[in-house]
Amino acid sequence: MCSFSFEVFPPRRDETIKNLDAILEDLGRLSPNFISVTFGAGDSINSQNTLEVASLIQEKYQIPSIVHLPCIHSSKEKITAILKECKQRGLNKILALRGDVCEGLEKSKDFSYANDLISFIKKQENFEIYAACYPEKHSEAKNIIEDIHHLKNKVNAGTDKLITQLFYDNEDFYAFKQNCALSGIKVPIYAGIMPITNKRQILKISQLCGAKIPTKFTKILEKYENNTLALEDAGIAYAIDQIVDLITSGVDGIHLYTMNKTKAAIRIYEAVKHLPKEENEAKNVL
Ligand code: FAD
Repeated sequence: MCSFSFEVFPPRRDETIKNLDAILEDLGRLSPNFISVTFGAGDSINSQNTLEVASLIQEKYQIPSIVHLPCIHSSKEKITAILKECKQRGLNKILALRGDVCEGLEKSKDFSYANDLISFIKKQENFEIYAACYPEKHSEAKNIIEDIHHLKNKVNAGTDKLITQLFYDNEDFYAFKQNCALSGIKVPIYAGIMPITNKRQILKISQLCGAKIPTKFTKILEKYENNTLALEDAGIAYAIDQIVDLITSGVDGIHLYTMNKTKAAIRIYEAVKHLPKEENEAKNVL
């Protein structure tokens, strides 16, 4: 059965949680399996907002939520306090991350990599633990073999499920899955998909995370860069094409990076909502 889920980010400093209500209401109507909430690696204000948004998703919209938890600028004490608050709020799913290193902030003395955090959570509390993975390898890793070796350590430390970085060529995902299988990684891997609706945004994100832009995709960006609606249509169609292929190939889950824009998420959901029913008639998952 294929899971279908969304990522949202919490309000920024000058916004209130209320601003997210309309977004969550739209996404909630699609009955996703879960919604995950990001957490800025070096931002303590954002951390409180993350927990509040995650609680709102579960309490008001009755949808399971995942709390992203980066550790690179944190300490055992801070992480313990956050985990305690998660328990109190009934938030029992954590996406355990190292996080990106923020210049000028002191690095953690307790955690160097995500697997340190995963072992720490596993020893302390009973959480469902998710971790990040990278079909095109993490940007700091020398090669994919080294990266998969580190990923295996994360899984051995207690990861229950993996969510991938965004990618635009499904072949990269299939090759990655094969490498994971060869190295004995057996946990479910959810595919992270980000529909492109804006050229600048996608070039920036792809530069940041190292995602390759296939020629087919570059053509779309070049042809429609000055036509917002056309670019949106083509970007959504591209994401739908990727998702249809992934679900047909038996992917464990689709995780949509929404960037807090629900229009694309709704259109994608509408286009693929009946797909997994052929594999599993019992539950209307999508
Ligand atoms: P790790 O698994 O620790 O890996 C980081 C690098 O170190 C990799 O190159 C790995 O190969 C290497 N490595 C791992 N273990 C070792 C070891 N023992 N020795 C040497 N090298 C090692 N960032 C945020 O700040 N907030 C978020 O909310 C957020 N959400 C995300 C959600 C998803 C689904 C994904 C894919 C990423 C997210 N990120 C987020 C970004 C993430 O924090 C960065 O990609 C970060 O650079 C790596 O985090 P990680 O948990 O994958 O790190």
